[in-house]
Amino acid sequence: MSQQDLRAALQAVTERVLAYRASADERPQRPMRNYDDMRAAFARATPETGAPIGELIGELADIAEPGLANMIGPRFFGWVIGATAPVGMAADWLTSGWAQNAGNAEATPAAAACEEVAASWLLDLLDLPRAASVGFVTGATMANFTCLAAARGEVLRRVGWDVEADGLFGAPPIHVVLGEEAHSTVFSGLRYLGLGAKRVVSVPVDGNGRMREGAFARAIEKLEGPVIAIAQAGHINSGAFDPFDEIAEAAHAKGAWLHVDGAFGLWARAAPDRMYLGRGLERADSWGVDGHKWLQTPHDSAYAIVRNAEAHRRAMLIAASYLPEGEHRHPADYVPELSRRARGFATWAMIRAWGREGIAALVSRHCALARRMAERLSAEADVEVLNDVVLNQVAVRLGAGMDGAVSDALAARTIARIQREGVCFVGGALWRGRQIVRISIIGEATTEADIDVSAEAILSAWRAERGANA
Ligand SMILES: *Cc1c(COP(=O)(O)O)cnc(C)c1O
Repeated sequence: MSQQDLRAALQAVTERVLAYRASADERPQRPMRNYDDMRAAFARATPETGAPIGELIGELADIAEPGLANMIGPRFFGWVIGATAPVGMAADWLTSGWAQNAGNAEATPAAAACEEVAASWLLDLLDLPRAASVGFVTGATMANFTCLAAARGEVLRRVGWDVEADGLFGAPPIHVVLGEEAHSTVFSGLRYLGLGAKRVVSVPVDGNGRMREGAFARAIEKLEGPVIAIAQAGHINSGAFDPFDEIAEAAHAKGAWLHVDGAFGLWARAAPDRMYLGRGLERADSWGVDGHKWLQTPHDSAYAIVRNAEAHRRAMLIAASYLPEGEHRHPADYVPELSRRARGFATWAMIRAWGREGIAALVSRHCALARRMAERLSAEADVEVLNDVVLNQVAVRLGAGMDGAVSDALAARTIARIQREGVCFVGGALWRGRQIVRISIIGEATTEADIDVSAEAILSAWRAERGANA
């Protein structure tokens, strides 16, 4: 390909992305075409001959754009995901351009060193042990998996079993203790690790999905042998935090490994006015947290943080004679993959862009916006906010006082109507047996005005469905 063709293609991509991003505010916050439309639009016979970059990149964008979810939109509240801030996106473009296969420090020194420095910034911002090791993984699912792999190895090593060498057959059983409402991906991690999604001790939770006082200590008390405990910073519906001080106390008294799933909630540690939520979680042994949620890096980006760096490395180390060794930190030694994207660049860029103050302000602002949303919605007589809005999550029941099955059906119709109308995008979930509207305020661009028009759109959709049912 000629330099001229490449330049023209990249400039065209830049123009397209600029136009796409500039329209995020006005476009509906949902995709304009559905999956079937998009499958039909992409369907072609397998190409027999090649196409020039200038044509095919334009073709790809023409086909795809109508079916894109407006996840950078300021009124996109659908899931707990970030909005890929421009800085992270730009750093990610460089990352693709530089084409580093960033597994090894000697082979890709810039990528590895950038990752190491970004890791130290993360530990500082989140106020976690500065000597902890950090693996840059794809998402919190993999962060939790990686941390739990380290946990599995270490709790078995302490009873004289080498799981990395000898596997799980014949190993002493490990007890896993977690809150009844742990995130679904934690159970995936347990499955991948041979610990079993069902072979767990569930700790009862309160109305916010937070482990009840004293319940963890009671659950762990009777257990004999190796124990892995998993607590949560930021419940997926309510944003609630487990009571870490008492959990850490009881876990350590038992010699258990304590892991914290803090996919988005761990960032509360970076905001002085939210810091209190995560008090005590620094006493844990490992933490999983996303970059692609609150930090607004591009997907995929998350961090597996482990206090015992040796346990972390033992669980993930990839040794091969063709890889240079050297004495440095190899990114691949702390994650499940060998070939990997240089994720450190985008993380470095986002932290550099926000600074400590910017991250704190972003988290605080989103939490204030969530409270504003909760106030607006609960002004309606039969709309009930089910959670204590301590973070960025608002869990809403429509039709408080109505028969449950009726209100559930109406709530589902209301969610569909809100999405169709496109002013904002909210998701739904089943929580404590009821259909809720789930609102996550975590995108960089959201303002108070966005909250106000969105609350109005949600309430007017609700009134329309309620009226149609009457
Ligand atoms: C999002 C989330 C996960 C999964 O993270 P991914 O980045 O989607 O893999 C795990 N736990 C909690 C609490 C989450 O919010």
